[in-house]
Amino acid sequence: MLNERSMELYKEANQYSPGGVHTSIRNVEPHLVFTKAEGAYIYDADGNKYLDFQAAFGPYILGHNYKKVNDRVIDALNRTDLYGVGSTDLEIECAKKITKHVPSAEQVLFCNSGSEATYHAIRLSRAVTERTKLIKFQGCYHGWHDYVARNMLSEPHMIGKRDPGSAGMMDEAIDNTLICTFNDLEDVERTFNDNKGEIAALIVEPIPHNIGCIMPEEGFLKGLRDLCDQNGTMLIFDEVITGFRHNIGGYQNVCAVTPDLTTMGKAMANGFPMAAVAGKKEYMQRYNTYPGGDVWFAGTYNGHAIGTAATIATMEIMETEPVHKHIFELGERMRQGIREIHDRLGIDAYVAGFGSVWTTYFMSFEPKNYTDLMQNDADLYIKYRKKLLERGFFKMPMNIKRNHISYSHTKEDIENALQAIEDVLKEII
Ligand code: PMP
Repeated sequence: MLNERSMELYKEANQYSPGGVHTSIRNVEPHLVFTKAEGAYIYDADGNKYLDFQAAFGPYILGHNYKKVNDRVIDALNRTDLYGVGSTDLEIECAKKITKHVPSAEQVLFCNSGSEATYHAIRLSRAVTERTKLIKFQGCYHGWHDYVARNMLSEPHMIGKRDPGSAGMMDEAIDNTLICTFNDLEDVERTFNDNKGEIAALIVEPIPHNIGCIMPEEGFLKGLRDLCDQNGTMLIFDEVITGFRHNIGGYQNVCAVTPDLTTMGKAMANGFPMAAVAGKKEYMQRYNTYPGGDVWFAGTYNGHAIGTAATIATMEIMETEPVHKHIFELGERMRQGIREIHDRLGIDAYVAGFGSVWTTYFMSFEPKNYTDLMQNDADLYIKYRKKLLERGFFKMPMNIKRNHISYSHTKEDIENALQAIEDVLKEII
């Protein structure tokens, strides 16, 4: 695979930005510089074309550079933009749509990234409960800020231990975040009992897609709801990945468990910067500082015409076209197809997924939590990913991450990917 031009540009990028990338985990081998994206495909500076399953970590649910969304954004920008006081017509229309579809969203506020949304939700939970501590699960990711950036992709000896994700984090923030094991209600109950009356919120990805696709066991999410109720703790569903991708009303609409607060981002605006925090009116009113509320919520770019117009357009397409039917069918075909390939080749691997998302774990059983994933053969995954990339199929670079299918992917794309997967597995196993 030719990547000469990419490497030239990468050298230049390194001169001006540390590591040449603008998010820590973007520096992967081989380094590519991207110049074009359209539908299900992305293109690099050397003219290589890839069928994209990374979807920029999930936002592209309709496809890259999706004309109907782009047109709405351009129309909006030809008329309006951002004001800094008052409200906008687009904000109102967008909020109306979200509160109509998302069960927990009696009211909603907009921000620009998932990290902002989780920060705000946690702060609100602390204000409401007048408590400090937070429960998160090993392996879940909720953004870069100090409250949650710990125990993400921990090394085996650090699982469940004090494992901050960055230098420079506040000890107090790290120590007030307690780590539990996903799918283990006893562990969560024990943590509640050991910290009676101290836990403000429990935050969870209802399906932890940051470690691929670990499905919640029957009753687990409902169990979290019950434990939160019993302990006066707020349940936060971080639906930054699952929201809109699995259902226009979020995974909460699928699993029938309603959290107190929900954070959203990624697929809601099909790639444009947009995020939200939503919840019960009684809690959300704490943000209403005019009059009476006492929780600060701000952001120069909050409610920008770009994000609100893109969200309205994306949601309208989901309302009127068979977006989820299409991506779910292709997702099912992909998972089934890979399982058949594994059977034909005698490969002991586990194919997980939900809807448009799939993950191949090179291990022999269904993982239930992060610890189980230590059985996954990471070296094999890296080889597999590299060989697929050489053939023009773009999967997530990191081991145990997920892949996404968009509305722009076709049946033919999936069949081509399956053929490539079979060829690559024959070569490397
Ligand atoms: N929550 C989840 C579940 C996420 O996957 C992410 C991003 N991968 C975030 C929060 C943070 O979102 P952002 O990168 O937009 O800040």
